[in-house]
Amino acid sequence: MDYVKLGLKAGLEIHQQLDTGKLFCKCPSFLRSDEPHFKIKRRLHAVAGETGSVDEAVKHEAAIDREFIYEGYNDSTCLIELDEEPPKFINEQALDETLKVALLLNCEIYPVSQIMRKTVIDGSNTSGFQRTVLLAHDGYIETSFGKVGIATLCLEEDAARIVKRDEKSATYRLDRLGIPLIEIATKPELDTPEKIKECALKIGEVLRACKVKRGIGTIRQDLNISIKGHDRVEVKGFQDPRIMIDTVKKEIERQGEELKKGKNNGEVRNSKDDGSTEFLRPMPGGARMYPETDLPLLRIGRDRINELKKNLPKLKQEIKEELKKRGLSDEMVNLILDGNLDEFEALIKVYDKDANLIAKAVVLWRNEFASKLKKSFEEIKGILNERVLEEVLEALIKGKINEGDVKGILWKIAGDGKSVEDALKFDKIDDNKLEEEIRKIVSEKPGLRGGAYMGLVIAKLGKDVDKRKAMEILDRLVK
Ligand SMILES: [Zn+2]
Repeated sequence: MDYVKLGLKAGLEIHQQLDTGKLFCKCPSFLRSDEPHFKIKRRLHAVAGETGSVDEAVKHEAAIDREFIYEGYNDSTCLIELDEEPPKFINEQALDETLKVALLLNCEIYPVSQIMRKTVIDGSNTSGFQRTVLLAHDGYIETSFGKVGIATLCLEEDAARIVKRDEKSATYRLDRLGIPLIEIATKPELDTPEKIKECALKIGEVLRACKVKRGIGTIRQDLNISIKGHDRVEVKGFQDPRIMIDTVKKEIERQGEELKKGKNNGEVRNSKDDGSTEFLRPMPGGARMYPETDLPLLRIGRDRINELKKNLPKLKQEIKEELKKRGLSDEMVNLILDGNLDEFEALIKVYDKDANLIAKAVVLWRNEFASKLKKSFEEIKGILNERVLEEVLEALIKGKINEGDVKGILWKIAGDGKSVEDALKFDKIDDNKLEEEIRKIVSEKPGLRGGAYMGLVIAKLGKDVDKRKAMEILDRLVK
């Protein structure tokens, strides 16, 4: 497909839950599967807005006059989720995490923001609105095909979670209502399916570097997409990287077919597992927003931003480059990034002379020992834990052992079941002591050849003696 000719224009809208408490109350942010403690029934009515017109999306919802049931818990939801008490001041931790994302996405942060209420008509908010605050704008993210603009970055509260829906009623659980949600909208400048996918993955990487929730349902990506002549279509649930490109291609084809038939429906569609999409609802009119009068203006000072800048998390790409600079191979870098980074970074602080030695100890040798001993990597990691590795590295720094001894020592601990102390004991005597011993042997039995002395040295000092060093000394003493 010739995407330029088709005039493909797309932008991503990404919602990511933060791993902090709720945004406007002190409740914890976790989803529960046990029986709710209470249920409350409410009825919401579709009303015409101030302009007197009822918007298409509202009409669509109102056509189904539903009763809303809200389920809650006495110990993890409060009166704020029920909209029976005014909101508390915004959660500072959630705000900091959002500001970090804004900085990583090179956005400009507004010094003063107004928390807003965005009308919600499907009953997923007990108040009939969602609180949202626009914190930053005009950023960008680097991709392999250049910068992609970030239009806006908001912090908002997640909606209640739908648990059951039938003709007459909708049941929502309050556990999700109020969980902080970052909303990132890119500029509509993505013009190929590959760019759309890469951009989605890159933003995901930035988010995962911050304190965000992981797992199904914690990130929600929507795609706004149109080809020339077609109105914008919003594809919801666009988050499976394996089918992103497929979904885009199928949607382009679908819009093309529509245009051929003289149709042009800007609408909201759901992304399906096979890459196709299905109609969900008409496109809502512009979000109706008004200020949240229960809360003061939000001020973000320079000092706060500077403080956050000092502690920005590193992105995966940055870490990769740093590890490569330290001399690690691509394969080793990937092994380290696969769940062993924290340990590697802690140990490299103990011994920074040889990153490869640390990498081998942390991944390769543990793996090797695990398969030799028919144990799992995790079991070996439990024996050769970070503290053990640290002790061995400290012995190395103190010159008690050589780099070449490290693997053998680790095997004594993991394979022979020795304590760290015992495993380090064999340890070679230092070079001065070695020379002293060799001199003694040579003077006691003068006139022998080098090889014969070596045998005596090993007999006296053990087979773990540093033979290379011993040979060097013997070469000097025995001509
Ligand atoms: Zn609460």
